[in-house]
Amino acid sequence: MDLKYEEMLEEAYKQLPSEVFRRERLEVPKASSVTFGSRTFLNNFKDICEVLNRDPEHVLRYLSKEMATSGSIEGSRAVFQGRFEDEEINRLIRRYMEEFVICPICKRPDTKIIKEKRFNFLVCEACGAKSPVRRI
Ligand SMILES: [Zn+2]
Repeated sequence: MDLKYEEMLEEAYKQLPSEVFRRERLEVPKASSVTFGSRTFLNNFKDICEVLNRDPEHVLRYLSKEMATSGSIEGSRAVFQGRFEDEEINRLIRRYMEEFVICPICKRPDTKIIKEKRFNFLVCEACGAKSPVRRI
């Protein structure tokens, strides 16, 4: 076999375990919302929750509380009482991510929330850290 350097490199990459290519950060879709009357419809709510890998009810509870309003899920959308700008929603989603998705130790997003007795923990699948998180 007479492989060129690039080909050898490619071969070497193919043999690496897939964990090496774990995502380092999340590409969360930007909020896409419209307001009708006194309500705000967040159209890509389900997409956002999927990328965050979190229960939509949990995300909804957080957003409603931070916006000091009530919200509900309608199909793939979230509906909030009141008028809110995409910018504000994006800011809150970012804060949600920092508190409930990103591991505080290694800063990776490969985490899940587990409940133990009355407490919630953020468990990191990348580094194994277990950090307490508040309940919403
Ligand atoms: Zn971690």
